[in-house]
Amino acid sequence: MEWIDFATPKTISEAVEMLASKGDRARAMAGGTDVLVQLRGGRRSADLVVDVKGIPELNVLSYSAQDGLTLGAAVPCFRIYQHKAVIDNYPGLIDSASLIGGIQIQGRASIGGNLCNASPSGDSIPAIIALSAVANIAGPKGTRQVPAEDFCTGPGRSVLENGEILVSITIPVPLAHSGANYLRFIPRNEMDIAVAGVGSSVVLDASGQNIVSARIALASVAPTPVFSKAAGDSLAGKAVSDAAIQEASEKAMADAKPIDDMRGTVRQRVHLVGVLTRRTLNNAIQRARGG
Ligand SMILES: Cc1cc2nc3c(=O)[nH]c(=O)nc-3n(C[C@H](O)[C@H](O)[C@H](O)COP(=O)(O)OP(=O)(O)OC[C@H]3O[C@@H](n4cnc5c(N)ncnc54)[C@H](O)[C@@H]3O)c2cc1C
Repeated sequence: MEWIDFATPKTISEAVEMLASKGDRARAMAGGTDVLVQLRGGRRSADLVVDVKGIPELNVLSYSAQDGLTLGAAVPCFRIYQHKAVIDNYPGLIDSASLIGGIQIQGRASIGGNLCNASPSGDSIPAIIALSAVANIAGPKGTRQVPAEDFCTGPGRSVLENGEILVSITIPVPLAHSGANYLRFIPRNEMDIAVAGVGSSVVLDASGQNIVSARIALASVAPTPVFSKAAGDSLAGKAVSDAAIQEASEKAMADAKPIDDMRGTVRQRVHLVGVLTRRTLNNAIQRARGG
């Protein structure tokens, strides 16, 4: 058994200072549902764990019609899917927050931790990429913002440098006639790692018949979550039709670069990306039409 120091800072600057003082031997912890499992299993080691849940900015969950959603990095999933403004404005976020783990995990697990863990299969990551989320980071050199699609750099790796923490995620106000959806395929009903997952968002024109813009992101089909820009862009300016949705799904399939493993084969995963892209687009369109 290894000794690990545990700290509970109350401010961002205190947390940054603590993390920076130990370099890559320190780990931040929000809900702990990834990091504690990894430390206990020996997949990661650390001299210091910095619990960031006591920092007020990391517990903010607020919405305004000017600034959109501010989601503190340590806010657990259950607070997200019970929040009235999230229910009203971001059903695509609820899709993922409500399927991470089971009820006990959702009492601890945060979207911030899901993003920082940078797993290719992180269920919230395609959902927040589709919603044009931005990660707000604080560190020894100050603050910076990174679009969600640029945050993960490899399996378990992100743009975060030693001493940096994710403070919050901001998601813009949903535009009129917009909708989003996240779906994953798992062989069980719950509590499993996605074989493939897709998050889609669309903005329609006032008639609800034409697509103004779309964003599509994929899980579990590459070393990082994938922002399939080509798939989303292929829909811009087109009438809603099966043919346009099929074309987008083929572009998403082309952006999927999965591996064979115990959960699925390359062929199955690419096929699933096509199916889930079509389904999430159709669901997002239905939501954009008020359904
Ligand atoms: C039984 C079980 C079921 C699960 N099911 C799912 C599932 O269905 N889908 C899914 O995607 N995941 C699942 N997970 C994984 C995990 O629950 C999620 O990834 C969760 O969102 C992680 O959030 P957390 O707050 O617990 O993160 P933590 O474990 O606290 O942290 C995760 C990582 O992020 C870093 N970190 C956390 N917060 C910050 C911060 N503010 N700044 C910088 N770094 C930070 C930590 O150092 C660590 O590397 C499951 C885990 C378990 C144990």
